[in-house]
Amino acid sequence: MKVYVLRLGHRVQRDHRVTTHCALVARAFGADGLFFTGDRDTSIIISVQDIINRWGGPFEIAYIPNWRVWLKKKVRDGFEVMHLTMYGRPVNKVINNIKRSKKDKLIIIGAEKVPGEVYEIARHNVSITLQPHSEVAALAVFLDRLFNGKELEKKFTTPELVIMPQFRGKKVKRVGKK
Ligand code: SAM
Repeated sequence: MKVYVLRLGHRVQRDHRVTTHCALVARAFGADGLFFTGDRDTSIIISVQDIINRWGGPFEIAYIPNWRVWLKKKVRDGFEVMHLTMYGRPVNKVINNIKRSKKDKLIIIGAEKVPGEVYEIARHNVSITLQPHSEVAALAVFLDRLFNGKELEKKFTTPELVIMPQFRGKKVKRVGKK
């Protein structure tokens, strides 16, 4: 099962850090890739690719110029679309239903106002609490529920660096030559 994230409405000036963090959370918490729309911003791709090079993959990161066309194709390809929004149904009520389906998943997260059609296209509009907070937190909680916490032990392939957990201090092993 593939799990992709679509980040809508990226704004170069305001969202560099948050969109990068969405991608880092998507990667660390077991998704296969993050695609973003809004302003074209190659610095996001460079930052995330640098993390992939050092800490391992695989993980896809790309800018999507026309998200409506891209999303329709993903639906045609059989992806089940989830939209994370505080207005949706609580994650605890819908997650078992979502997990029963073995279809590939596409998780949509917004920046500012999300276009109304996204609520219609989504098979599930899912809330992570009924309070406003952050796409970074919403994505982390949703992925953790989707993968039952197993993503926390995910091993990445061809890393350059691997952390050796310590009681205190930091130990990083260089395992790849780059
Ligand atoms: N009021 C805005 C809305 O939902 O249209 C909140 C925008 S918030 C800064 C950016 C994104 O964070 C939202 O589009 C949504 O994907 C995510 N988000 C924020 N709070 C959430 C919640 N309680 N549950 C699920 N997703 C949430």
